Amino acid sequence: MNQIPFLRDQHLAQLPAETFDLLVIGGGATGAGIALDAAARGLRVALAEKQDFAAGTSSRSTKLIHGGLRYLKQMEFKLVREVGLERATVHRLAPHLVVAEKMLLPLIKNGTYGRLMTQIGLQVYDILAGVTGSDRRVMLSAAQTLEKEPLLRADLVEGGGFYAEYRTDDARLVTELIKTAAARGAVCVNYLEVKDFIYEKGQVAGAICEDRIGASTLEIRARQVVNAAGPWVDELRSQNGSLKNKRLHLTKGVHIVVPHERLPLRQSVYFDVPDGRMLFAIPRGKSTYIGTTDTDYQGSKEQPLITAEDVQYLIKGTHAIFPSAGLTEADVVSSWAGLRPLIHEEGKSASELSRKDEIFISPSGLISIAGGKLTGYRKMAERVVNRVARQLQQQARRAFARCQTKHIVLAGGQFADAQAVTAFQASIFERLGPAGFTRQDAAYLVHNYGTQVPDILDLMEQPTAEGLVLAELAFGLEHEMVQTPVDFWVRRTGRLYFDIGSVYQHKNRVLEAMKAHFGWSDDRTQALAAELEQAIGQATRFPAQAEMVH
Ligand code: FAD
Repeated sequence: MNQIPFLRDQHLAQLPAETFDLLVIGGGATGAGIALDAAARGLRVALAEKQDFAAGTSSRSTKLIHGGLRYLKQMEFKLVREVGLERATVHRLAPHLVVAEKMLLPLIKNGTYGRLMTQIGLQVYDILAGVTGSDRRVMLSAAQTLEKEPLLRADLVEGGGFYAEYRTDDARLVTELIKTAAARGAVCVNYLEVKDFIYEKGQVAGAICEDRIGASTLEIRARQVVNAAGPWVDELRSQNGSLKNKRLHLTKGVHIVVPHERLPLRQSVYFDVPDGRMLFAIPRGKSTYIGTTDTDYQGSKEQPLITAEDVQYLIKGTHAIFPSAGLTEADVVSSWAGLRPLIHEEGKSASELSRKDEIFISPSGLISIAGGKLTGYRKMAERVVNRVARQLQQQARRAFARCQTKHIVLAGGQFADAQAVTAFQASIFERLGPAGFTRQDAAYLVHNYGTQVPDILDLMEQPTAEGLVLAELAFGLEHEMVQTPVDFWVRRTGRLYFDIGSVYQHKNRVLEAMKAHFGWSDDRTQALAAELEQAIGQATRFPAQAEMVH
């Protein structure tokens, strides 16, 4: 699987040539999961993504594969059970990318959870999520909690809970889902926007799309069409004339990144902030990231911006529990903002809205899926594809297999278990160490690319930091449909968030290499360089709310 090319021109050329069983609109976690599920059952699948894969919400989450402890408070037992159980499955399908991570929940005076509530909550969580062995929750005394995390404010801490979650990289997860779907015959294209639907006898029969790179229009014909457009779901429902009754409610969530040495946590912490909400602080490589806010949102969906107030809120909340770190706004080196595509419920605030997913079917047969979590992508896909398969059975009298995705290891995930990932990481360090690379570099590569790392190292012409970046780029261009510098720095490597220094250092060389690869004109090269500068600006500079023009 590692060596399969995944090239945009080749995929694009296949789209007008046939009538697909299924067209999926949207290449986030939901759409990518649907494409893989359907392709694995033997459907002919096309997927159109108007930006880059994962450029919507699916590169802007907290990057946890988790059961959502806090949803217990909202009595969402079914949701917690489903996503809780899914954690172990998704970990098995990509053990390098979905990595067990202990979470410390400090109990503080007047906090969200008291000792009893935490104990019961974590116990229920373990039962619902089928947690076993050393992953089961442990309750800690104040002294034990402070021993685990000495940066916590000692006079506030009354005890703690210690439990298991998984961390991931959302955009890499989507990339591997798309690649795995493509390896099973799905035709997937980024920068291809669905502009309108094609109808036959009143039923949706495909879509008219704009190629945002080639600036042309093409038609995709399909027997079934799924709208998995995340925050844009209602735009397509509206286009389809079916935006009735339930609608989306978008809320913005911001994360900030600080150098790890400025908040050197020993493990992830889920902590109370003074307004009654809770935040995550998650160490990752050279960084620690903190999030999230949760506020109603009405601005641009493509570019949700981060305000100075968002950053202040996160810094203030973190400072309240980790005062000795002395974090200030000046420590923030990167950030991102994402939009939760939640389903509106009258009278409920942003944080109270359910994270459940829902399927809407329009009179013209458009299947839309909204809400949900990254963690639940596989089950959401199963539900949608079950419906699609039923429709196709009625329409074309064809029968399809049941959902197979529980057994389909994602690209790069061919490891026996988590120990095999650790051993592989050690072998990569053995190979790279003599050239001056660190264990952290080896960990970055293995968590990002898994068993594909040797393919990348084979592309490395110089054993230097620049040589490695260029090898990752060469791999991304050939196997991951990288089209722009932002695709590469944000969604294929995550470097703009977690190692922004390497972006500053190598961005010109990467631009040159991409220009040579694609044969870009000077104008196109400049426009894409400017797009990267804009992305860096948005991640590092924060206008006050009052200065923002939507
Ligand atoms: P998206 O990722 O937004 O994908 C939809 C895609 O459709 C976009 O890429 C868009 O460009 C494309 N599109 C739109 N219109 C068109 C069109 N006309 N033509 C073609 N393509 C189109 N979940 C977890 O499990 N764990 C977490 O830790 C977590 N943290 C979160 C933190 C925040 C701040 C947020 C905002 C969400 C978080 N979530 C988390 C939820 C999770 O990120 C989302 O549920 C999930 O990513 C949604 O995926 P999606 O594919 O439905 O939407």
